[in-house]
Amino acid sequence: PNSLPRPDHRRVFTVANQKGGVGKTTSAVNLAAALAVHGLKTLVIDLDPQGNASTALNIEHRSGTPSVYEVLLGEVSLAEATAVSEQSPNLLCVPATIDLAGAEIELVEMENRESRLKESLSADAFNEIGVDYVFIDCPPSLGLLTVNALVAAREVLIPIQCEYYALEGLGQLLSNIDLVQKHLNPALTVSTILLTMYDGRTKLADQVTAEVRGHFGDVVLKTVIPRNVKVSEAPSYGQTVLAYDPGSRGAMSYMDAAKEIAERGSTNGSRSGTL
Ligand code: ADP
Ligand code: MG
Repeated sequence: PNSLPRPDHRRVFTVANQKGGVGKTTSAVNLAAALAVHGLKTLVIDLDPQGNASTALNIEHRSGTPSVYEVLLGEVSLAEATAVSEQSPNLLCVPATIDLAGAEIELVEMENRESRLKESLSADAFNEIGVDYVFIDCPPSLGLLTVNALVAAREVLIPIQCEYYALEGLGQLLSNIDLVQKHLNPALTVSTILLTMYDGRTKLADQVTAEVRGHFGDVVLKTVIPRNVKVSEAPSYGQTVLAYDPGSRGAMSYMDAAKEIAERGSTNGSRSGTL
């Protein structure tokens, strides 16, 4: 593939949407894989106790494996919890184990409960593993884990599924992002919205697409991810769709989306938003 520009500064994305099943995990792992294909070192931090991103990348995540949970508690360093995928030496993952399920409650009692992840993701910690891109895959809620991700990142990537009620609940996410920006992380912006699971045969998909573009303008990537069976099959083989079927429409669209993200940089189109 043609080379993509290496970012001037490391770009850290939180992939968030409190709705489940909108393509957060799929987008995090496949965008990361696409950037890795271009030689950009990319880290996926699995912050969902379900561990779907870890599974999709075939990263060991049995209870007891050094994971994002121990990183949050400050028990292990980022580097110690980082595993390399078999797919590419450029594709790294901090897995989530089932131990993370308790963290949402345990964090409540902790000091700096909103910024534990940020503290673990210091420049030094990142430099030790030397990554260009980071994608934090959030659970489907707006709880403390997602807040930790929003505090630790500079950019928010919101996947939106092209179906009925696509925008429902988004106002809540955006107002949470605004709160985090006001009180905890002034640099945070919604830099990227990615339309997923587009089904060109339905009129509805086009209506949703037009509505989202109307609200968010340039923040929405031009590339739309189609509904593609290869995308949904890949995780059961412990592969991203880029490895599973590189010629599929799903794989190619994630390559295009990654290219767009890399080429437009972190400033273009960035803004926070309300609905
Ligand atoms: P989330 O992380 O937001 O809960 P997922 O990424 O796990 O959502 O996606 C939900 C389901 O939809 C998964 O089974 C996934 O394989 C499937 N899926 C995601 N994107 C696509 C797509 N473009 N085409 C077909 N299936 C998809
Ligand atoms: Mg998920």
